[in-house]
Amino acid sequence: MEVLHAKERMQEKILRYNEKNMTIGFVPTMGALHEGHLSLVECSRRRDDVTVVSIFVNPAQFNQRDDYEKYPRDLKSDLNHLEQAGVDVVFTPTEQEMYPEPDNREFDFGGLDKVMEGKHRPGHFDGVARIVTRLFDLVMPHRAYFGEKDYQQLAIIRHLTRQMRYNIDIVGCPIIRESDGLAKSSRNARLTHEQRKEAPEISQALFEAIEHSGRCSPDEIREQVISRLNKNPQIDVEYFEIVDDKTLKPIRRKEEAKENRACIAAWVGSVRLIDNVKISF
Ligand code: AMP
Repeated sequence: MEVLHAKERMQEKILRYNEKNMTIGFVPTMGALHEGHLSLVECSRRRDDVTVVSIFVNPAQFNQRDDYEKYPRDLKSDLNHLEQAGVDVVFTPTEQEMYPEPDNREFDFGGLDKVMEGKHRPGHFDGVARIVTRLFDLVMPHRAYFGEKDYQQLAIIRHLTRQMRYNIDIVGCPIIRESDGLAKSSRNARLTHEQRKEAPEISQALFEAIEHSGRCSPDEIREQVISRLNKNPQIDVEYFEIVDDKTLKPIRRKEEAKENRACIAAWVGSVRLIDNVKISF
């Protein structure tokens, strides 16, 4: 496994793969890797000739400096995991390498950014798009792998890829969970012992929502989930929405419901967690 820090070295590497007609699978990450990330690597290893993983904690997509600074980082352990997973190249640039000049680009996501994460984290998806386009331009992968854990991000990246005419197949991969249901996340490492015990209630509420979807409307389920979780003094729901899985438009009534996702963001202490499930009515 090669670990590269400079864009030029990465470009040379990609050129060599292209000369050999090898397909490139790309997994962009912010490090502090867990089995969720490694499942994306596995998908790529199955389908592509080479797998490139990037590790870069992207300041542009954080709303709060504090969250950026406290974001877990453990490069040594990440590299160990990736080596064992059979990754070919890891790209870990510095901030200066990725943004030699300030990047203030704003994007048109066709309204997909007006709800949920986009609504509560202004500018977040512009920050995501700035780094993802830079990485796509550099790595020029045949396929790029993203987790359904960040469902809105996946929808926005599909949109961006079409809009910017990237010839890249965007592959969405299912959410990997802990045995108690909590969606794996780098941020889980920041939970205290007590908070870690309470955090699975978030996914439990989502699974319960699926069970109730036969007899309740999206609006009723929304109320049930929010009031159940907010009863827990450790949990504070930021939003819970049932949305159309393509347009991400919120759905209130049973009649509007077709293919949907129930998406949540909730604070457990000072840690913000997100999760989602497929739901039908
Ligand atoms: P991050 O390092 O948090 O930016 O995540 C990098 C990629 O891993 C994104 O495409 C995430 O959606 C994906 N990912 C993170 N957690 C999980 C998980 N629990 N299951 C599946 N994919 C995940």
